[in-house]
Amino acid sequence: MFTFLRNPSLLFIIVSLPVPVVTDNLALLVIDVQNCFLPTGTLPVTEGDLVIPIINEIRQNYDNLFSLVVFSQDWHCDDHISFASQHNGKNPYDTTVLHYNSTGNLCESTCDAQYNITQVLWPDHCIKNTADAKFASNITRKISDVVVQKGYHCKIDSYSAFFDNGEFSQTELNTKLKEKNVDTVIIVGLALDYCVYYTAKDAKKLGYKVYVVQDATRAVANATSIDALHDMKERGVHIVQSSQMPDLMEKLTSSGNIPQCFHLIWYIAAFVISRRLAFF
Ligand SMILES: [Zn+2]
Repeated sequence: MFTFLRNPSLLFIIVSLPVPVVTDNLALLVIDVQNCFLPTGTLPVTEGDLVIPIINEIRQNYDNLFSLVVFSQDWHCDDHISFASQHNGKNPYDTTVLHYNSTGNLCESTCDAQYNITQVLWPDHCIKNTADAKFASNITRKISDVVVQKGYHCKIDSYSAFFDNGEFSQTELNTKLKEKNVDTVIIVGLALDYCVYYTAKDAKKLGYKVYVVQDATRAVANATSIDALHDMKERGVHIVQSSQMPDLMEKLTSSGNIPQCFHLIWYIAAFVISRRLAFF
């Protein structure tokens, strides 16, 4: 009945079929590439527009290797707590300390303050449903991309695409990544020293392998950018340049993760096993 199993060629095919395959598990996180952060926007990041062709090129070359591409979008109330205009006597880029109670509510008068958060005060920016808050018109977007909005709670800011600045609430980003079994994120966008930095820190804390493509980001200020890069490296975030993407993607995807010689060894083993089985 099983005489066909005496055929070594057939046995070789059967034995060698389950060659291991590493499934794709990468996500590209495009952080806040919105009109508000471009040089003509309300909170301009110097050269912020220069990240767009680099991000578009990454997508053009590697989109098929990403399980998910996520666009985060800063999305504020018009009286958002992070706006200098909401604080008497304060100017954009001043700081203030905001107090929150144990459930994450802002202490606006008397309150049992449990958390004190230093807040940089920004120009009014990225107000929801305005042209300023829209994604840059020339960034490549696809129907399959996921949009994750952040900063929509009026009384607390949210630099990270995962959590607000007090970690009182989280966006759907982690759930979306888990649904696709993502374990590695590649982060690009604006701005390096705030939203990219906080997103990278949180991604690392949540257990992802994290890569930031430095030349696909720009910073609000040089000093904070140096601190952010230093801290990210300390935390194990990999800082790479777009010129390293070919090697990086080769390393991170299946053909790079499994040494070429492994497949050869696998087929030799399958050949030996099939020959031996054929003699039974
Ligand atoms: Zn904002």
